[in-house]
Amino acid sequence: MNATIAARVNILFASETENAEDWIPLLERSLPRDRILLRPEAPIDVALVATPPPGTLENLRGVKLIQSLWMGVEKLLADPALPKGVPLARLVDPGMVAAMSETVLAHVLDWHRQHYAYRAQQHERRWHRHRQYLAADRTVGLLGLGELGSDAARKLLALGFNVAGWSRRPKAIEGVKCSTDLRSVASMSDALVCLLPLTSQTKDVLNASVLGKIKKGGCVINLARGGHLVDGELIAALDSGHLAHAYLDVFEPEPLPADNALWRHPKVTLTPHAAALTDARTAVPRIVENIERLRSGRPLLNVVDVERGY
Ligand code: NAP
Repeated sequence: MNATIAARVNILFASETENAEDWIPLLERSLPRDRILLRPEAPIDVALVATPPPGTLENLRGVKLIQSLWMGVEKLLADPALPKGVPLARLVDPGMVAAMSETVLAHVLDWHRQHYAYRAQQHERRWHRHRQYLAADRTVGLLGLGELGSDAARKLLALGFNVAGWSRRPKAIEGVKCSTDLRSVASMSDALVCLLPLTSQTKDVLNASVLGKIKKGGCVINLARGGHLVDGELIAALDSGHLAHAYLDVFEPEPLPADNALWRHPKVTLTPHAAALTDARTAVPRIVENIERLRSGRPLLNVVDVERGY
């Protein structure tokens, strides 16, 4: 049971990255009896946060719920000012989950249909057709079989790919070769997709050893966090010809500095942490659900396990 809260609550919206104009009208319409504040000018019951302005977390005495506006919460967990003993819920936004699966499919298909190679050939005006593979010839390995990984798995299966997946605890997803052994998943993969939370256990998981197990001519797709990838070891795997291409959305640090070699590497396709953005239209109903649960003392959804780190 959670602590129940007053019928009318003060909700702080605190984000340097999310546009308040997209959120406030939807929140006000969905929570008409509550007060939505942009500054902690009254005692706050619920804080909605994504990269909150400096000093925000220090001013949340008495807060009952911290609701992230993002799916990944590693930065909030690492902030010493995060109030202790207060539930931190991460956002599971169906619009964002759908967007992420679209990005996974876009990159897997770009590699599978060899468009990365045809784009390079177009620059050279070279007419050369590559051998065609069927989706059934390929195995896509998913690191992480949570909200994002399991949705991507279903959509890849629907296209006819073989799908393998790695999770911390044993899992059963129809049609997916699920395993808790990273080496076995990497070894059967032609394309390896990272959809893991960043924790002390998953940092640097895309290293020379794992990249070297992906089948020759394969690709790596990192859509989770920059801290999962050892950049220099990826560049070595691309330059040696072991991997054909890498699709990278996330970096450490962000924005990726202009002098970073990844920007101009011919075998890298790079996007600016845009694989899946929170969409207020699909996220607000999930946030409202958690606030109503808090109001009536029911269990909250998607509460982060602080020890586990996700
Ligand atoms: P989730 O539902 O919590 O799922 C995480 C998955 O990773 C679970 O299957 C979990 O295993 C597995 N896992 C965690 N630690 C592991 C370990 N040590 N060994 C093996 N497997 C491990 O998370 P999600 O909602 O899918 O999101 C994943 C991440 O995507 C987020 O944390 C965020 O960083 C990133 N993200 C990126 C973007 C972007 O635009 N680039 C957008 C949204 C999210 P269990 O099933 O056993 O727990």
